[in-house]
Amino acid sequence: MSIKIENLTHIYMAKTPFEKVALSNVNVNINDGEFVALIGHTGSGKSTLIQHMNGLLKPNQGKIFVDGVDITASGVKLTDIRKKVGLVFQYAEYQLFEETIEKDIMFGPKNLGLNDEEALERTKRAMDMVGLDYETYRNKSPFDLSGGQKRRVAIAGVVAMEPRVLILDEPTAGLDPKGRDEILGELYKLHKSYNMTIILVSHSMEDVAKVADRILVMDEGKCVLDGTPQEIFKEVDTLENVGLAVPQVTYLMRELRRVGFELPDDIFTLEQAKKELLKILAKN
Ligand code: ADP
Repeated sequence: MSIKIENLTHIYMAKTPFEKVALSNVNVNINDGEFVALIGHTGSGKSTLIQHMNGLLKPNQGKIFVDGVDITASGVKLTDIRKKVGLVFQYAEYQLFEETIEKDIMFGPKNLGLNDEEALERTKRAMDMVGLDYETYRNKSPFDLSGGQKRRVAIAGVVAMEPRVLILDEPTAGLDPKGRDEILGELYKLHKSYNMTIILVSHSMEDVAKVADRILVMDEGKCVLDGTPQEIFKEVDTLENVGLAVPQVTYLMRELRRVGFELPDDIFTLEQAKKELLKILAKN
């Protein structure tokens, strides 16, 4: 299950005075089982790019292959793509509308044409996958939950469609640090335990450093960097040029290296930093 994007260009309101080139000749491959972060400042084209991956937007130029099938070709049904590629929008909890959590999560699978029994099975599985106990939450109103839990319900609604690829647009936006870490933890679990391919859109370097295997950096409608977190966080100048910063801890390690501490140049999480600093302490 892969997504291959070839020479993708997207222009909003083409041939009008408001024309805006949102993506310009983008080439990206997402491989099966990867956890990829898509990062870039506001307006760099992240949302436009992901909406092409499940057929919501059509390219002006270029092709998108999902599992080897060109989804820009005529005759491809959107429901077939959505079974494979699930998209969780920004502030997805605003789209919750049913009176109980169970009904809300069942909506997606039922919409795919599944009967009540199958949709319920998927609902239970999805709630388990995102860490919501079925019996505790099934009859609660989604509107009685905390911000982080509401968002989990919204994510479960897409997970219940059992896509192979799960795309999330800024899933931690607006949450407090605890809610943010819980959501990131659940996404990491979905990836590790269920081998789900995850594409996480974010503008937080700290968030993506914790979970992603690979980072794609977007700027002005182009993909300007593509690599592992180790590779990407070494590119401090390029990142700063496109309005991004490396994680705070990476700056601290860089500063300590500059004043003479023997530290590697690819530290980007607190855990790695702690390990390296303890090594230095043990030596002295
Ligand atoms: P990001 O997700 O990185 O913030 P977007 O993909 O939303 O970026 O936007 C890329 C560019 O396209 C921006 O300049 C934005 O203003 C423009 N854009 C996005 N959506 C629309 C739209 N519906 N109509 C016109 N311009 C849009």
